[in-house]
Amino acid sequence: MSAYIGRFAPSPTGPLHFGSLLAALASYLDARHHHGQWLVRIEDLDPPREDPHAAHQILTILEAYQLHWDSEVRYQSQRSEAYQQVLEQLIDQSQVFPCACSRKQLNGALHSGVCQLADHFRDHQDFAWRFAVGSGECHFDDQLQGHYSESLDRDIGDFVVKRRDGPWSYQLAVVADDADQKVTHVVRGIDLIDSTLRQQQLQRALGYAVPQYAHIPVALETNGQKLSKQNLATALQPDDSGNTLWNALHWLNQSPPDSLRNQGNNAILEWAVQHWNITRLAGIKGNPAPAPFLR
Ligand code: GLU
Repeated sequence: MSAYIGRFAPSPTGPLHFGSLLAALASYLDARHHHGQWLVRIEDLDPPREDPHAAHQILTILEAYQLHWDSEVRYQSQRSEAYQQVLEQLIDQSQVFPCACSRKQLNGALHSGVCQLADHFRDHQDFAWRFAVGSGECHFDDQLQGHYSESLDRDIGDFVVKRRDGPWSYQLAVVADDADQKVTHVVRGIDLIDSTLRQQQLQRALGYAVPQYAHIPVALETNGQKLSKQNLATALQPDDSGNTLWNALHWLNQSPPDSLRNQGNNAILEWAVQHWNITRLAGIKGNPAPAPFLR
């Protein structure tokens, strides 16, 4: 029996498009190829940026594509108590500090060290919590992109784990949930690679296991930008899902045979699980999306 646990963790800011399908499919195939579990987690931490219908739309499309997940879908909006406990552990360990700097006050500068302003605001609870990053170069080996290094104090600064206006940060929530759900393998888009070292510092500070990371290339618009909800990528529809799956496999460099195209989702996924070879994506950062999925 394998202990592999993977996940797909979309933010419900819009419907699933070709770019987000790639992350869903690659994480699904990697998990199933290793006889592992595949979880779906809706990262609904920031209501003003979300579309109230998106979570339902995303799950409906995953089901239509026969990308069936294990366990119940987790919603981060219901996990506040768990995140609070994580924050308290970091406070007890003196690894976070309150910060009352506004974006305007920081004026693009990185935050570093204790915040001088926070004392004035403490009584009103009007501050963010920042994680104090360590100094020096950090690095990790990505399964696809190779050696990645960054100096968090120079490039990122002390980062927010709970925002001043209330919401939990993506970094804290993702680390808390990946650990709580015992995720062993993270397969996601390369646009998130620069969050990985922040997440690993948090995992180490909290005594969590560090998953293995594989950052897949992203699908690009004709202008070279990432295909995204922001630039209005076409929403996937439940019909014609077999053809879309075939296109996604082709894009993921898996060389699906032409004869598979019309055989239905089950046959396509069965073939794909068996033949999945993630290393065919090694070193690739982005490729244009196929024409039908561009706006
Ligand atoms: N929720 C993040 C997003 O949709 C992805 C989180 C992750 O895979 O770590 O961009």
